[in-house]
Amino acid sequence: MNILIPSTLSLWSATSTSSQAFPVFEGEHTIDLVVVGGGFAGLSTALHAARKGMSCMLLEAHEVGFGGSGRSGGLVSGKFRASFQAVMAQHGREAALQLHAFGKKAVDCVEQLISEHNMTDACYSRSGYITAAHSSAAMKGLQTAVNWLEIEALDHSSRLIDAEETAAALGTRSYLGGVFNTYAGHLHPLNYLRGLARAATVAGAQIFEHTPVRSIEENGGWVTVVTDQGRIIAKQVLISTDAYSNLTSATKRLARSIVPFRSSIIATVPLNNNVASTILPRGVVAADTKRLLRWYRKVDNRLIFGGRGAFDKDNSPAAFSRLYRQMQDIFPQVEGQRIEYSWSGLVAMTLDYLPHIVRQSDRVMIAAGFNGSGVAAATYAGACVADLLTGVQPQIGILQSLAFNPIPARSLIDPGVRMLTAYYQFLDSWNL
Ligand SMILES: Cc1cc2nc3c(=O)[nH]c(=O)nc-3n(C[C@H](O)[C@H](O)[C@H](O)COP(=O)(O)OP(=O)(O)OC[C@H]3O[C@@H](n4cnc5c(N)ncnc54)[C@H](O)[C@@H]3O)c2cc1C
Repeated sequence: MNILIPSTLSLWSATSTSSQAFPVFEGEHTIDLVVVGGGFAGLSTALHAARKGMSCMLLEAHEVGFGGSGRSGGLVSGKFRASFQAVMAQHGREAALQLHAFGKKAVDCVEQLISEHNMTDACYSRSGYITAAHSSAAMKGLQTAVNWLEIEALDHSSRLIDAEETAAALGTRSYLGGVFNTYAGHLHPLNYLRGLARAATVAGAQIFEHTPVRSIEENGGWVTVVTDQGRIIAKQVLISTDAYSNLTSATKRLARSIVPFRSSIIATVPLNNNVASTILPRGVVAADTKRLLRWYRKVDNRLIFGGRGAFDKDNSPAAFSRLYRQMQDIFPQVEGQRIEYSWSGLVAMTLDYLPHIVRQSDRVMIAAGFNGSGVAAATYAGACVADLLTGVQPQIGILQSLAFNPIPARSLIDPGVRMLTAYYQFLDSWNL
């Protein structure tokens, strides 16, 4: 039986309850702010900047949500790829605490926007998030992380859970235990994104689709943004193109500063109640500690299972099959169930595993590098950009101050990461 149905349609596109279309930009305009890229970061910036009275146009090369935002898993958390302990060791305690506070504020920001703009179709739930340990070394690592949160950040929203509690919450005996973080949840990413777009236009921002930015040129204290059918003279520009920065040469500097990494997702058909009730029975979302992260959640009795590890230019049947095998290993109860949706997208990895909210120049800002954890972080980054543009200094520490430059010998990075990924796949397959 062919279990995998190749489909480029995501579950989110198929089930989105709001459809929107925005015009192509044409003509000449002068404006306060141009935002390049219509994902969480760009839309949130447009919304917050418009609320602060800035005139703002957002230009998206395809449709809003075309990038990682519309394809994401919808897990909402204040996690970063870099651990707080590692950040403290490298940049000091203050930097680690500021990063931790950013993560919390990011979750708050999503919840507040959803509530303020009545985005009921975002289906947000503060469900909690379990990180499950695949080895005893990983369990020790989780213990260290929880200790750091409690002792350094006085944060008691995460607690260690043993193998029994993990098995009961996840519906699998694959793990040695885990951490249950209550300050996290899940949502329908495309409905949430479209809610942000609606809110941004109500606040006065103008959104344009099918409008790739071809060049961004600074001259005489202004920035000229050129598209196929027009030109905007702006006081400020935000580049929020994340892993999709090589669509045109206008954002090539950012493209050279990140490593795009493909992340894939499969979604089963709705499972019958007997099977569905054995998986994630309390509705939490979960990820495990394998080097190539796997995560899962349940939506309307479907099991949604995602993971990283492919570099292909497009959807990869091999990556979907690998995910399907992993899903069955963890949840044998879904064996033989058909996959109805399978899709993928790019995440933007950075060398320091941190996002960056930085100035490229006096008139051009960048908010990017969300390392696959951007639903909350990119949303909150938008609020921070709007603050910075209006003279308010958010407490974002190293996210603003660390260098975010093009990676030297960038062309050698991809083969290097490919080899590392194969090595990680090998280690993960042996639970090492
Ligand atoms: C499969 C997958 C699953 C994920 N799951 C999760 C998850 O569960 N939780 C989580 O927190 N994060 C997750 N992420 C990561 C998260 O989706 C991203 O970090 C976040 O969406 C980044 O948002 P963004 O606004 O920075 O960029 P994007 O959403 O990628 O938007 C960038 C946009 O810029 C546009 N663009 C590019 N060039 C131009 C140009 N020249 N002119 C105009 N527009 C341009 C692109 O078309 C694109 O729409 C996932 C990512 C993927 C791919």
